[in-house]
Amino acid sequence: MDEKMHGTARLTARLEPWMEELLGDPALCAELVESHGSPVNIHNFDALGRNVSELRTAAAAHGIDFEIYYARKANKTMGALDRAVREGCGVDVASLNELRQCLDAGVPAGRIIVSAAVKSKALLEVAIDSGVTISLDNEDELRDAMELAGCKAETLKIALRLAIEHPLIPPTRFGLLAPEWLRILSDGAVASRVKVAGIHFHLNGYAANARSVGIHQALAVIGQLRGMGHEPSFVDMGGGIPMSYLDSAQQWDDFWSRLAQLPDGDESLTWKSDRLGAAGSLPGTGVYPYHQRLIRGGWLDEVLGYVPESGTDSIAEELRAAKIQLRCEPGRSLMDGCGLTLTEVAFTKDRSDGVPLVGLHMNRTQCRSTSADFLLDPVLVHAAPPRRKRRFESAFLVGAYCIEEELLLRRRFEFPAGVAAGDLIAFPNTAGYLMHIVESASHQLPLAANVLWDGNAWVADGIDGVKL
Ligand SMILES: *Cc1c(COP(=O)(O)O)cnc(C)c1O
Repeated sequence: MDEKMHGTARLTARLEPWMEELLGDPALCAELVESHGSPVNIHNFDALGRNVSELRTAAAAHGIDFEIYYARKANKTMGALDRAVREGCGVDVASLNELRQCLDAGVPAGRIIVSAAVKSKALLEVAIDSGVTISLDNEDELRDAMELAGCKAETLKIALRLAIEHPLIPPTRFGLLAPEWLRILSDGAVASRVKVAGIHFHLNGYAANARSVGIHQALAVIGQLRGMGHEPSFVDMGGGIPMSYLDSAQQWDDFWSRLAQLPDGDESLTWKSDRLGAAGSLPGTGVYPYHQRLIRGGWLDEVLGYVPESGTDSIAEELRAAKIQLRCEPGRSLMDGCGLTLTEVAFTKDRSDGVPLVGLHMNRTQCRSTSADFLLDPVLVHAAPPRRKRRFESAFLVGAYCIEEELLLRRRFEFPAGVAAGDLIAFPNTAGYLMHIVESASHQLPLAANVLWDGNAWVADGIDGVKL
């Protein structure tokens, strides 16, 4: 595809073949925006199978019992859920509606784990009644679950969310420390009624050895639980399995070193010379590491091959010796290659001081995660001859909310082939979080429609018909 748009410092997105094909067909792009509105979230889940097998292959090489639970909060579509289940994954759910939709879709209870950060009684009740494993965060949740289970407490399926304590790992709001759980479980009323099925943890960040440390500590707790009469069968290491959006390490490094040299107030790279949380020329902690070397399979291999400082066995050997299944809950890295967001240019104009702006029929909650910016170059599609002359200056992308800081992306872009109202812009690889995690219907603007490739045609995803 010839390049019609790129960052003033390039960050070229890796595109799946289906994305290249779609974006190489301007008439089809225009038709999708015409039928579904702007922006439209477009999905093709064929890459999910590849992402899953990368992980399974790495686990198999270490001879461990291994299962993947798709973290549904990363993408709300029914298409993602259906494909994950068809690929043999279980599902990690974060709310009552996510759980209900999984059960209604026929996902077996044994293939679901509830990891919601806060659990309503209604959520606990549905989980208990249907026999779904609940990852408990704290003692109040345990008491709520025991009360709801009543005399059927022996049917409670629970995992303990463990807060990992280690110099490598920052303090966490999630779970409880091991001694705290062991104290709670040794209370007579609890001990006689609760059986622990597994240990769960989920860490911030993407460091492989932090997961190794977590598994090692979880296995130590499992040893203690067995001594207390429990029969735990799994350790679930949560998500945070890394992916890489950019192939070029050089572009990634260049971007940060150029940003570090940028004088304050110089807007040639970012809006108001925004540093995006960087410290010196190093990427900030405020952004996702959009370029990474060690991802999915290679990363899991490192987690499993690690030998904890206290021992001589690798993590994989420890898991095998303990006869414990390892589970993980990837969200983002399963959605890698599965979606893009297509939007229409509404206008071109100048800011009051002359800086060029490109306005989009889209707001910034529709391509956003908790990261300070989405650091990938969008792709420009010339769908039809423009009504007004195309403009060629480098510009910022602004959106539909009535806020001065309403930027779709904080970086500045060049348009060597020109841009005008009616052109289309695609944000690549947005299926993991970028489309859904913070989308809002503020200003009474409707949420973006979700479309998927069903093997024959582009069709509406079922989730947009669901009323919450
Ligand atoms: C968010 C979350 C995940 C998924 O994390 P990714 O970074 O998308 O892999 C998995 N488990 C839990 C408990 C989570 O909160």
